[in-house]
Amino acid sequence: MSGPRPLSSILKVTPYVPGRDIDDGWKLASNENPIGCSPRATEAIKQATQRAAVYPDGSAYDLRRVLGKKHGIDENRIICGAGSDEIFQFIARAYLEAGDEIVQTEHGFLVYAIIAQQSGANTVKAPETNLKADVDAILSSVSENTKIVFLANPNNPTGSYLPWSEVARLHSSLPENVLLVIDEAYYDYVEYPDYKSGITLADSTSNVLVTRTFSKAFGLAALRLGWAYGSEDIIDALNRTRGPFNLTGPTLAAGIAAVEDDEFLSNSVQFNNSELKRLQEALTGIGLKVYPSAGNFILVDFAAHERASSADKFLRVNGISVRAMGAYGLPHCLRISIGLEEANDAVIKNLTEFSKTS
Ligand code: PMP
Repeated sequence: MSGPRPLSSILKVTPYVPGRDIDDGWKLASNENPIGCSPRATEAIKQATQRAAVYPDGSAYDLRRVLGKKHGIDENRIICGAGSDEIFQFIARAYLEAGDEIVQTEHGFLVYAIIAQQSGANTVKAPETNLKADVDAILSSVSENTKIVFLANPNNPTGSYLPWSEVARLHSSLPENVLLVIDEAYYDYVEYPDYKSGITLADSTSNVLVTRTFSKAFGLAALRLGWAYGSEDIIDALNRTRGPFNLTGPTLAAGIAAVEDDEFLSNSVQFNNSELKRLQEALTGIGLKVYPSAGNFILVDFAAHERASSADKFLRVNGISVRAMGAYGLPHCLRISIGLEEANDAVIKNLTEFSKTS
């Protein structure tokens, strides 16, 4: 290597590999919203682009106000970021240094390990039980070096979720100096009665941060918008790491309009959940193993790595891009995002054909 030498911790970072785009086909590789976003958000973006010469509101005040009102929470304890990904980076900068540890689950979302690496911290992966977070295993993985426990609830890519009683048990057994980050990127889709947001915990305790995103049910992935709720002290620490104008004007305007459009959100969730059920049933019907999912994607188990790779290629040749799962320690699986009806039909048709091959 020539020129300035980056930190050795930075050179060890495993780059994140995003889902592949596909020309003339269906991209079902990044858990995006196939029905798009609220028309009110689109209009707000258009209006906001006319104010391109003016700096955006650096404190995201109006967005935090509407979020606070919508969720019945204190707007001063909300922070907004360029996707939840940026919020994870704030967390790492505020709480992690070389030699620290984070704990996440075995097949948990990969970005947590990446932001830990960026700070020179190590990731301890707690074994899962049947692709589901195991609270006892998480607790046994916590050491005196643990600074943060990350729990995606529901989790990507497994689609599993922890019921509220287990989340509460996890929190009550964690030392108070360990930050519990509950990543609720897929919160809006969950319809199980034993599931509950961690917001009440974040509201009443000093060591819980809940993150949410506009990239999934709100369909605003391209604009990069997420938010988090925690104690005054946590939000204060995160704000100290944040760039002064981290969100663009059109992003803020779209977020405000999206929060206020209940009809779009409910259509988006209804569409996803009915197509998810249809896809799950159809693929199970042709003999594939599909894990139950509380998100906007399904995880399909092909029993062997080679078989999953062949299915991936087969789908790709036929115009469908899905996500290979090697990086998640699940090389025998593929993750398929829920698409428009036509895309889901194409998945069913192609996997039916594929299942006849050997
Ligand atoms: N958390 C989970 C569990 C996710 O699956 C994703 C996106 N794939 C994110 C967070 C990041 O979302 P964003 O940065 O777009 O808000």
